[in-house]
Amino acid sequence: MRKPELIERLSHLVGDTGLVLDAEGQAPYVRDWLGKWQGGTPVVVRPRNATEVSAVMRLCHQSRTPVVPQGGNTGMSGGATPDASGAQVILSLNRMTRIREVDPVNNTLCADAGVLLADVQQAARCAGRLFPLSLGSEGSCTLGGNLATNAGGTAVLRYGNTRDLALGLEVVLPDGRVWNGLRGLRKDNTGYDLKSLFIGSEGTLGIITGAMLKLFPAPAGRATAWVGVESLAQVVGLLTRMQAACGDRLTAFEMMSARCLDLIVAHVDGAANPLSARHPYYALLELSDTEPSGLPAMLESTLGGALEAGLIQDCVIAMNDSQAQSMWRLREGISQAQMRAGKAVKHDIAVPISRLAAFVDEADLALMSEFPHLPVVNFGHIGDGNLHYNVLLPLDVAPAEYARLTAALNRRVHDLVAQRGGSISAEHGVGQLRRDELRRYKSPVEMDLMLMIKRALDPNQLMNPGKLL
Ligand SMILES: Cc1cc2nc3c(=O)[nH]c(=O)nc-3n(C[C@H](O)[C@H](O)[C@H](O)COP(=O)(O)OP(=O)(O)OC[C@H]3O[C@@H](n4cnc5c(N)ncnc54)[C@H](O)[C@@H]3O)c2cc1C
Repeated sequence: MRKPELIERLSHLVGDTGLVLDAEGQAPYVRDWLGKWQGGTPVVVRPRNATEVSAVMRLCHQSRTPVVPQGGNTGMSGGATPDASGAQVILSLNRMTRIREVDPVNNTLCADAGVLLADVQQAARCAGRLFPLSLGSEGSCTLGGNLATNAGGTAVLRYGNTRDLALGLEVVLPDGRVWNGLRGLRKDNTGYDLKSLFIGSEGTLGIITGAMLKLFPAPAGRATAWVGVESLAQVVGLLTRMQAACGDRLTAFEMMSARCLDLIVAHVDGAANPLSARHPYYALLELSDTEPSGLPAMLESTLGGALEAGLIQDCVIAMNDSQAQSMWRLREGISQAQMRAGKAVKHDIAVPISRLAAFVDEADLALMSEFPHLPVVNFGHIGDGNLHYNVLLPLDVAPAEYARLTAALNRRVHDLVAQRGGSISAEHGVGQLRRDELRRYKSPVEMDLMLMIKRALDPNQLMNPGKLL
């Protein structure tokens, strides 16, 4: 279908205000958050509800028009950016922002896919409940994007990934049919778990338009600590000790290296090391509970024991919310600090927690000998075995050199990850960033199964072409 006809028919479906046609208006949609990928589109379509999404998808199906779903466009893998052909329509969910229902008895919340994560959290809070998914991008990313990437974040240790937080989905299929799977059930053994197909599918199988989410009792209080540690093996030792002593109350356990904190202090206004000395590694811990009175004492005695045992070198416990927030601000400032300090080659990897320290020792040694001048910035959700094992190149590195080093570093780091039974994409998704590497690390059988599912649901290959597969 020719572009003017496509646009005219789309404008009948979503109205003129539902289309973005001019280059200036399209600019934030055709470039990713990191500024790494830039594409083009004939039109950004912004439907208001699942019925409009269905009509748009039916038209795109009939006219064989490829579609790129987009939420908040905060993804780290280029999954929401169209290619440069200018043929791919962007379907943005940013006008679908309705919280449909909160049921505090069933502990569920049903919302449109375009609702910002922070607004989902707030709606749960207003009902005296907790929606625990928590990311640095929560003020900009959307529920649909979280589901499509199976986002992780800082509360996975206690509550799981986005997949674990979804009870049901509403999805518009590539041919425009709507699957309403918005069931608020904790038990439903009536066949294949279809929602799990779409969660983590990065927009390659259909458009998620709504979700039924699990809510949890709201914690009445938290206790937060910042800890200085000698080695990564000891960080893992501290995690084990904290889990044994505090059980489910341990809701977050984040780690960063000394170099990572140095960058934050240098590049983020007002950032400072909460401890008086520099340590090779730091851990940020949080306990929470619906009955919070014993939390500070529990944190103090567990960390006191760890100090006596020589497992940690120093620690400070936040005395109030403001101190806790400044500790969390250090963790949240990492992305900004990295962007200001250099061009990062990012590795979003997972290995079994028991093998983390050995992996990092081996990877550090390998990179030190092969790339001696490149600093590693290592941080992550250590409680989930998820490291952001990044390598910083100079800000002015030439594009060809950046591409060459990226390929060499990826191969070195990801081969070591695979040898330790790990994953090359723990939480950010594959997108276009890791697409070509996937074949190296997935077995032929696994790739074949994924391709069969893709062909069955999207036989014309119109959903987010060039991503994931
Ligand atoms: C500062 C910062 C911190 C971050 N921290 C974390 C973190 O701790 N953990 C983590 O996991 N991620 C993190 N991210 C990455 C990102 O925020 C998440 O991947 C988020 O889930 C993406 O949501 P989005 O709405 O921005 O999706 P987008 O970027 O718009 O899209 C991401 C992918 O999902 C697809 N998609 C989007 N909406 C839909 C839909 N409705 N239906 C079908 N497919 C869809 C897109 O096609 C694309 O493939 C961070 C990003 C930033 C910028």
